[in-house]
Amino acid sequence: MKAPRGTSSQFASDNWSGICPEAWAALAAANAGHAPSYGSDDWTTAATAAIRSVFETECEVFMVFNGTAANSLALSALCRGTDAIVCHANAHINVDECGAPHFFSGGAKLLTADTPHAKLTVDAVERLAVTPHDVHSARPRALSLTQATELGTLYTPLEMWDLAECAHALGMKVHVDGARFANAVAALGCAPADLAWRAGVDVLSFGGTKNGMQFGEAVVFFDAGLAEEFGRKRMQGGQLASKMRFLAAPWVGVLEDGAWLRHAAHANAMATRLATAVGELPGARLLAPVQANGVFVELPQPAIDAVRAKGWQFYSFVGATGVRFMCSWDTTPASIDAIAADLRAAMNS
Ligand SMILES: *Cc1c(COP(=O)(O)O)cnc(C)c1O
Repeated sequence: MKAPRGTSSQFASDNWSGICPEAWAALAAANAGHAPSYGSDDWTTAATAAIRSVFETECEVFMVFNGTAANSLALSALCRGTDAIVCHANAHINVDECGAPHFFSGGAKLLTADTPHAKLTVDAVERLAVTPHDVHSARPRALSLTQATELGTLYTPLEMWDLAECAHALGMKVHVDGARFANAVAALGCAPADLAWRAGVDVLSFGGTKNGMQFGEAVVFFDAGLAEEFGRKRMQGGQLASKMRFLAAPWVGVLEDGAWLRHAAHANAMATRLATAVGELPGARLLAPVQANGVFVELPQPAIDAVRAKGWQFYSFVGATGVRFMCSWDTTPASIDAIAADLRAAMNS
């Protein structure tokens, strides 16, 4: 069979990228003979220890296959079916998970606000959450923030703290969708804990897939009480891997020498490089500040068509002409310069 031709010349998503060398090496190392199943193996123990060390605390860690499962199962640990989850209108849990948070929680409603740059504000959370708590409305029990956001922006540790404080005061727990948590940590240059339990986060969906792993996310509970039934939820949700060592080993590979932050910082730097080039094009308008590994820009339709015709892959994200360029751990400076040149030519013709 002829292998399909891959390309690194694309900006569709960071999940189009391959497996980074550190994850690949760990997978190979884990592939030595037999090991106990369902997480009773040494790799799972080591990955859990590595995540605890990264977060400087004794958190509860559960590996799952993907981000949708991480988010919806984590939220189902915070909410019952009669509860509500406050999130941004752009949130992955709202627009990209086919109702999985409702499904796994047994019916929880999402309450959304469409605040600028995909970032929730304390005002918006208060407005959404202060609903009459009688039997006619679902009770807000969880705030879900995305870090980095769906528009490539970031919450600072202080912004997270303020939001978490507000959520807790209103009787909610705080979940973070961290599909791109590594990009946020790398960009903000803070300790991972500063965007997690030290900022009031109760549970984090810690993303691995988009940062160079084959697949796999970790649900990290900083409030151990919330994790009590989570082992069963994961099983019931079809997310307990029997060959768990292959979900766990890549975490050891990327966390132990800081590769996860190097890869994320590289992806962020590539986005900044592209944003600088795009910023010089008359007729292009950034839709959000470029703070992580995504560039969101409004372009004229003919320019979009011309660049696509050259083979570049990227999504229309905000309407037809608000496009998204995602950078990943293996995006090269040369590919940034090449697409920037094609964009420049398209805008000038
Ligand atoms: C990619 C992504 C996820 C996870 O998606 P899966 O395809 O289920 O792994 C979750 N949240 C955000 C913001 C994402 O971009």
